[in-house]
Amino acid sequence: MKIQVKDLSKIYGTKENRVVALDHASITIREGDFISIMGPSGSGKSTLLHLVSGLDTPTSGSVLYGDTDIHHGSDRMLSAFRRQKIGFIFQQFHLLPVLTARENIIMPLLLDKKQPDEAYLDQLVSLLGIKQRLSHLPHELSGGQQQRVAIARALIAEPDIIFADEPTGNLDSKSGGEVMRMLCEIREKLNKTLVVITHDPHIAGLAERRFTITDGVLQEVTA
Ligand code: ADP
Ligand code: MG
Repeated sequence: MKIQVKDLSKIYGTKENRVVALDHASITIREGDFISIMGPSGSGKSTLLHLVSGLDTPTSGSVLYGDTDIHHGSDRMLSAFRRQKIGFIFQQFHLLPVLTARENIIMPLLLDKKQPDEAYLDQLVSLLGIKQRLSHLPHELSGGQQQRVAIARALIAEPDIIFADEPTGNLDSKSGGEVMRMLCEIREKLNKTLVVITHDPHIAGLAERRFTITDGVLQEVTA
């Protein structure tokens, strides 16, 4: 499914507190695209990803998935759409500490009263190298393993699109490299669209299309 982001802006606060976090951003994301977005801290990267994935609402502009404007439907429609079509990976993992790795992974399905496809779950955890860790609690796992559990959770509902907001930002370079390698491999094997935000030029360079964002202004980097 094609995603068309048109003239998207987000303004926080008013008067002296007014911050233009995102300034008329436009981007078309085609099916199967691998896109990276780089920019300094505070440049609007998370804001952009949150608006495009429906986690937050824009001040103006639109986000179309196919013909559907995701910011002009009911909240219920939007959350169902998000759970089924979009996988989101956060810098801070956001695993539930009292649930095992397996329970964390299948949580999004349980919210939709669905049971996991065991063969698919097995494929995911094998690709992510966490098959032997499924009965562990998050605090019993390394940072890299926790992020790999979070990636499996983002993928369990078989979304078409994966958004990752600085997925290696909380990891050392070795486990961060591992996480990115696996994410790239999964994208290729399972044919997903991937949009990654990063500070790391090496990770940005893995993508087929590269963008930068400065003071809320998004630009494609042309070779
Ligand atoms: P990045 O992810 O690139 O570090 P963000 O998208 O988080 O940047 O933030 C962009 C700008 O918007 C920053 O100046 C930030 O302070 C501001 N901002 C983000 N969220 C809020 C908020 N909820 N209220 C007010 N300002 C915000
Ligand atoms: Mg951010």
